[in-house]
Amino acid sequence: MKYSLYCARCGRDYYDDGRRLRCECGGMLDLRFEPSFRPGMTVGRPYDQWRYREALPVGEDVVTMGEGWTPLLSVAFDGRVLLIKQEQLFPTGSYKDRGAAVMMTHLRELGVKRVVEDSSGNAGCAVAAYAARSGITCDIYVPEDTSPAKTAQIEAYGATLHRVPGTREDTARAALEAATTCVYASHVYSPWFLHGTKTFAYEVAGQLGWTVPDTLVLPAGNGTLLLGAYLGFTELARAGIVSHVPRIMAVQAVTCAPLAAAFADGLDEPVEIHTSHTAAEGIAIAIPARGSQVLAAVRASGGSFVTVSEQEIIASLWDCCRGGWFIEPTSAAVIAGARRYARAAAPGETIVTAFTGHGLKAAAKIAELVESPEGGG
Ligand SMILES: *Cc1c(COP(=O)(O)O)cnc(C)c1O
Ligand SMILES: [Zn+2]
Repeated sequence: MKYSLYCARCGRDYYDDGRRLRCECGGMLDLRFEPSFRPGMTVGRPYDQWRYREALPVGEDVVTMGEGWTPLLSVAFDGRVLLIKQEQLFPTGSYKDRGAAVMMTHLRELGVKRVVEDSSGNAGCAVAAYAARSGITCDIYVPEDTSPAKTAQIEAYGATLHRVPGTREDTARAALEAATTCVYASHVYSPWFLHGTKTFAYEVAGQLGWTVPDTLVLPAGNGTLLLGAYLGFTELARAGIVSHVPRIMAVQAVTCAPLAAAFADGLDEPVEIHTSHTAAEGIAIAIPARGSQVLAAVRASGGSFVTVSEQEIIASLWDCCRGGWFIEPTSAAVIAGARRYARAAAPGETIVTAFTGHGLKAAAKIAELVESPEGGG
């Protein structure tokens, strides 16, 4: 497999031993890797994300639970149709399995025996599950107030759970410290994770007959799905398989919007913000490590940011549940953003978004939130 690690900011190359997190200059690391994928290659292959294996920077022996190729369904909201990828249907209940499967395959190839990861919950679930599949020991760091279903899931997979008091950033710091003695299987730092989430783009394009939707509406916490989707469409466009990269609209909660604020001010880096509580725990990221890359991707795609209020998130959650879709509050925030965008979009515009996480992960919280659609409960 031909790839190399390099710094996205200064271009410096690095040897990959599974240990290096960032460039000396502080920049995040990406992969130099040219996929050899062509659409004809998928004929006769199983319907999972590995049908694009020539686009994935790992060998043949993969860690998998048959993940991927989630349905792309038309769902009407407010009289407008959204195409919604059913990413809540992954083995661990969120799209994070795309990235975890590719990242853990890579780490097993390197002979890694033990990893740490931090997350607001779902990335921890995915890494713990794929670590269990690959016989790798793992320690997962989560904020103290993470949904109990997620912490139960992490421990059930056999991972050692660490609850960290304080903010999401305190949790990230605790994991970074632990990572000085073993490998940091980070959904934010590892470029392999993004090469996993990029299969979202391959699937969407494939499901649309190798065409491109007008617009993608995706969450921007750390931006792991957004950056993956951008990477995937960029590769497909470079290979001449699709014509261009679709416009990307990035969704943040009003109460935690460091990227939307930077975008509005024309800045290249996330701004420092004061956060307050949001029901969307999965995108409550005050200091996104790949923030400058998210801003650059959204800008290059001709897109922009949408910020959604707590009332909109809760109303969207209520509407989704009453429509038969049991999704977690973070996922409802993305749908709130997509609905806001769709209401003002040109008629006939093709808008693709995602149900990013399953409701069973936050059942108690959902029960509280949907008591009243105004969120008064
Ligand atoms: C991780 C996650 C997100 C947001 O992903 P980022 O990589 O932080 O942008 C959205 N929804 C769910 C359910 C998630 O698990
Ligand atoms: Zn650098």
